[in-house]
Amino acid sequence: MLEIKGLGHTYDDGHRAVDGIDLEVAQGELVSLVGPSGCGKSTLLRCVAGLLTPTEGAVVIGGRAVERVPDELAVVFQDYTRSLFPWLSVRDNVALPLRRRGLRRAQRRAAAEEALGQVGLAAAARRYPWQLSGGMQQRAAIARALAYRPALLLMDEPFGSVDAQTREDLEDLLLGVRGTGAEGDKEDRGGGGDGGGMTILLVTHDIDESVYVGDRVVVLTGAPGRVHSDLRVGLPAPRD
Ligand code: ADP
Ligand code: ADP
Repeated sequence: MLEIKGLGHTYDDGHRAVDGIDLEVAQGELVSLVGPSGCGKSTLLRCVAGLLTPTEGAVVIGGRAVERVPDELAVVFQDYTRSLFPWLSVRDNVALPLRRRGLRRAQRRAAAEEALGQVGLAAAARRYPWQLSGGMQQRAAIARALAYRPALLLMDEPFGSVDAQTREDLEDLLLGVRGTGAEGDKEDRGGGGDGGGMTILLVTHDIDESVYVGDRVVVLTGAPGRVHSDLRVGLPAPRD
């Protein structure tokens, strides 16, 4: 589903952030990406998202070079303060990208409300981003990505600003949606890429979280960052 081949990136100022990264992610897999601060996790994610052009190597999604597939992608950034449109209600923020799915207004709103319910924000649907706490804004950004049902979901420290209990709920939510992308209502939503389920790449600095939600944990180390290890994880133990 996702193939990263010999990926290297050197920023304009000469700073080399990642070097020779090879990674293959199967459709429906949730891969956690961990490693010390500065090892290039965000750089790697931005290259996969097509926001940064790698200086070496390539990113291929579903057999196509990444520049050609933005519709199959959704990204949740660490910085929630810049992810929502301030002049749209929370519900309309979540509903907006669904226009690209060809959904009608009522369907978009229904899908947005469903996703907001999943992240515990049903009651905030009609509010505006500036009326929400940071954690709620972050959850709204997550709801927007989930409602879109992308084939590939990229998340960079998405739970950094939410409280511990909500974080656990969101981790469980991710476990629920990974590999199940557009199952069931693919025809009317047009989501989920080629049908086998949502593939998720999650950057986190929380080792417990990486193991709890990940089918695999990929550890980057060094400067520039390289893949240090790639561990397959069993099914998570149920929470107490
Ligand atoms: P991580 O997400 O693992 O903390 P980053 O990908 O943000 O790592 O950064 C990797 C390295 O690249 C760091 O040394 C960082 O300072 C550097 N870096 C990140 N962004 C830029 C940039 N825009 N210009 C120059 N160097 C950068
Ligand atoms: P993260 O670890 O999540 O990447 P950082 O605090 O390292 O967060 O980086 C925050 C922002 O600063 C990013 O947009 C990154 O590109 C930028 N940045 C980081 N290091 C540098 C650098 N050495 N030069 C320029 N920009 C940088």
